Amino acid sequence: MYGLTEDDLDIQKRARMFADEVIPYEGQAELAGGELPADLAAAHAARARELGICATNMPKELGGGGCTTLQQVLVQEQVGRVTNALAWPVSTPPSWLPAVATPDQLERYVKPAVRGEREECYAITEEDAGSDVSAIEATARRDGGGGGGYLLNGVKWHVTSFNTADFAFFQAKLVGGPHDGEHAMFFVDLPSPGVSVVRTPAYSHTISHHHPIVAFTDVHVPAANLVGAEGDGMTFAYEWFRFERLMVAARCLGAAERLTGEMTAFAVTRRVGGHPISEFGLVAGMLADSLTELFAARSLAYETARGIDRGGDVKVAHAQCSMAKLYCSEMAGRVADRAVQVFGGRGYMRENVAERFYRELRVERIWEGTSEVQRAIIAGQMAKRGPAALA
Ligand SMILES: Cc1cc2nc3c(=O)[nH]c(=O)nc-3n(C[C@H](O)[C@H](O)[C@H](O)COP(=O)(O)OP(=O)(O)OC[C@H]3O[C@@H](n4cnc5c(N)ncnc54)[C@H](O)[C@@H]3O)c2cc1C
Repeated sequence: MYGLTEDDLDIQKRARMFADEVIPYEGQAELAGGELPADLAAAHAARARELGICATNMPKELGGGGCTTLQQVLVQEQVGRVTNALAWPVSTPPSWLPAVATPDQLERYVKPAVRGEREECYAITEEDAGSDVSAIEATARRDGGGGGGYLLNGVKWHVTSFNTADFAFFQAKLVGGPHDGEHAMFFVDLPSPGVSVVRTPAYSHTISHHHPIVAFTDVHVPAANLVGAEGDGMTFAYEWFRFERLMVAARCLGAAERLTGEMTAFAVTRRVGGHPISEFGLVAGMLADSLTELFAARSLAYETARGIDRGGDVKVAHAQCSMAKLYCSEMAGRVADRAVQVFGGRGYMRENVAERFYRELRVERIWEGTSEVQRAIIAGQMAKRGPAALA
């Protein structure tokens, strides 16, 4: 099905094997605030590397998988079958980075990230700048100290994985100089003097990765930590969004697949009034709608990936990644809601996969651009290029 090649099926199988191996630990993680014992978490990370499913998006020359976009989707789809972020060791370092990284940055950041030795986090969003990244107030000034570096200031929100990361991408507006007011991105090693956690709020999901509010106060970075050129910051964000939106879509497919499987298995065995509940039309409708939407969503996401692999127009890809993210995340949300309903009271128990996905999937409609932002992008491209160019 879906015209997958032998190579596609092989990497999909390895990723599925990993997901199946970590799924049994979900309940334990859920009840322990998302944490597994350190040796177990390390074993999972090592297993993901052993199966060759990490850094699938990075070039082979740098030690990555050099996989097609479709293969990356197939891997992330399996990651999405797992709750509590237990499959996050299947990491994807930023694929836009090798093209702009200096030889020194390749050695210090990119290659260690590909090898799984250093992990990144993203410090972009602020209290008053989420959907509209151009509104950020963080600043980068050339450091007058003679070293040619920068002084970074700003308070960043929702910095995912700050508690486990070895370095942050920090986005700021330049103050002074020829690019005054433009964006720039910097590597900030963690820990660094001047970088401190303001607070660590609790979120709906139960995972070991935190999303703290982080203050950067007069943080000095050398000029060698500038990513690309001054003024490039926004370009990186857009490229990253395209990739990450498609991967969000892929993970939502995996979640919906798991949920449709679990709710069907329950519905055919759970008997009420002497009948399996799958025989009740209202329950059958929930099952049928879920699988139908999953099939439609998967076809959309795979075709979007194939379009990128064919080297299509980047603006068309941008709109299609938005369509995939929008539809797959909303589809998965509907499927999770139905799954809770099909499981009845059991669907409200934290030990039940439907309950966990019901909470965990909610953020897929928010991060990497909300559903409203995706709709605005799609409609904007429709007006510019005409619907026929996009679908
Ligand atoms: C768990 C989690 C992890 C995150 N991780 C990171 C991270 O690692 N790094 C990082 O930098 N950020 C991260 N984020 C931030 C995330 O990207 C933002 O929350 C998201 O982009 C939305 O921004 P906002 O929360 O400020 O909402 P706002 O931009 O304030 O939006 C509020 C509402 O207004 C709507 N809206 C906004 N603009 C428009 C418009 N033009 N048209 C129609 N409606 C609109 C939105 O859709 C939304 O419904 C994370 C967020 C969460 C929840």
